Amino acid sequence: MSVPSLPMNDGRSIPQIGFGVWQVPDAIVTDATLCAFENGYRHVDTASIYENERGVGEAIARSGLDREDLFITTKVWNRDHGYDKTLANFEVSLDLLGIDEVDLYLVHWPAAMYDLYADTWRALVELHRQGRARSIGVSNFKAPHLRRVIDETGIVPVVNQIELHPWLPQTELRALHAELGILTEAWSPLASGELLDDPVIGAIGSKHDRSPAQVMIRWHLQIGNVVLPKSITPTRIKENIDVFSFELDDEDLAAIASLESGRRTGPDPDYFDEL
Ligand code: NDP
Repeated sequence: MSVPSLPMNDGRSIPQIGFGVWQVPDAIVTDATLCAFENGYRHVDTASIYENERGVGEAIARSGLDREDLFITTKVWNRDHGYDKTLANFEVSLDLLGIDEVDLYLVHWPAAMYDLYADTWRALVELHRQGRARSIGVSNFKAPHLRRVIDETGIVPVVNQIELHPWLPQTELRALHAELGILTEAWSPLASGELLDDPVIGAIGSKHDRSPAQVMIRWHLQIGNVVLPKSITPTRIKENIDVFSFELDDEDLAAIASLESGRRTGPDPDYFDEL
């Protein structure tokens, strides 16, 4: 299974499907990630707060794959915001991952109440300048956060990784991303599993002889998102990347659009202050 890549605004490219590993314990993330690699995933999305970078690193080392064929993302956590702390945290992540460079380093949340995200972004700009973070982006940023880091540094994040699924299609923010040249990465693309039993999604799946997860992943691909499905179940890991031999039609897309409710499964970034 070969996943297409999308061009980023820094001249690099990113595989459109990434393997999400949030809530996957370090003890099992190695097997899950190796299973993903065996099924064709080449992009892994971790974070320092997931406490599984060591296990992801072990999968990278054991995979036998060429490092240049992999795309590894990690993120700096809220308590590590600030210029110096971010630089220090980056070293810890690289060490745990056992690699010399990450493909993508993200500011995990703006945590704007602490007002350190612009300094954190400056540290990412420096890591990018050094070539150790090959690309840099943000996560959970709203329009004012995006505009501030761009205004203060002149550097546009390559991606903004945000909660996005049929309940929360993020139409306005996606339009701003398009205007600024930022790719949209969708986290909790299956609404953390909560949308798998939705009858509208189920009916579209029956029509195409595909599972609800495949319908949703296909929807993300067709609207231009980078999509990060998570599973620790080998059959599902395989199923979630087997989405390139069918296509949703306009009627399917309209039916999925009708599911918009604004419902989040995770926190609203304006109020998320966890350290
Ligand atoms: P998803 O929306 O990917 O849903 C995962 C859930 O769906 C799990 O319970 C999984 O079960 C189940 N599932 C997956 N595939 C299938 C399938 N084919 N059939 C049936 N059930 C399935 O959820 P996440 O919330 O984990 O988000 C995905 C990724 O997004 C994260 O792992 C992380 O990388 C990123 N993320 C980023 C955040 C951020 O702040 N930047 C916040 C949250 C997530 P099982 O594993 O048991 O198979």
